[in-house]
Amino acid sequence: MELSVGEASSAGRRIFTGFIRDLTEQQRAEFKLQELQSELIHVARVSAMGTMASTLAHELNQPLTAIANYVFAAKDLLERDGPQPLDMLSEAVGEAAKEALRAGQIVRRLRDFVARGEVEQRVEDLPKMIDEAARLALMGANERGIRTKFEIDPTIHRVIADRVQIQQVIVNLLRNAVEAIGTREVREIVVRAARDAQGMVRVSVADTGCGIDPAVREQLFEAFASTKEQGMGLGLSICRTIVEAHGGRIWAEPASGGGTIFQFTISSVDEADINE
Ligand code: ADP
Repeated sequence: MELSVGEASSAGRRIFTGFIRDLTEQQRAEFKLQELQSELIHVARVSAMGTMASTLAHELNQPLTAIANYVFAAKDLLERDGPQPLDMLSEAVGEAAKEALRAGQIVRRLRDFVARGEVEQRVEDLPKMIDEAARLALMGANERGIRTKFEIDPTIHRVIADRVQIQQVIVNLLRNAVEAIGTREVREIVVRAARDAQGMVRVSVADTGCGIDPAVREQLFEAFASTKEQGMGLGLSICRTIVEAHGGRIWAEPASGGGTIFQFTISSVDEADINE
């Protein structure tokens, strides 16, 4: 580009001044767009704080209650007359410590989630990302009788992703699936990852829940579309912002036998793709 500018200036500077300005304006516009996009994700994250805060309170409640129970049990044992049952005491204190570490992990995840930071897309291991996100999102789902199946194409490993953000998408979809199942009789979630015809990886979350309410079907991925009493209607709009910033798309379809299947695509970088 520099060469053509040099030639141009000897041929007639005025003609090319416009050309150069156009280019920088275009670059500036692109830069602005990128800035806006990361800003948007940040705003979406911050506005999701309300939802996250209540989720966090809910999630922290479990380990905190467990810690209190173990510590009270230890106190009772200590106050007992007679010889101290050291093995029981040690077990109670050990379990309390484990629960405290779990509470710490929950808080750390939230901090990751709100931490500003550019969209950091790297090569990440998709099955591992799914596994971690599912552990977080499905805490307590087992106890509520929800069965979760994972069908991950074994040839899929590496994708290009901002790990925290894509995990947020998976967490949101899984939480919605759990909520949609509610008290329904058939209680199953299936998480799949497969390649699509365009060489992208398609991740899907299928549930046996209530299906999409026609009242929100058209605005499903828009902010503040919610049918839940406590819902802010931000989860899916954040999911869409994140997936699209990664060059993918996200959509929902009715699942066979009732329920819903949410799917999104993400770029893969497996050896097979590189060698092609
Ligand atoms: P919120 O969960 O706060 O309402 P979302 O953006 O995550 O916000 O979801 C928007 C709405 O989409 C929900 O209120 C619900 O009506 C519908 N929805 C989302 N996921 C599902 C699902 N798996 N099954 C049925 N409806 C769903």
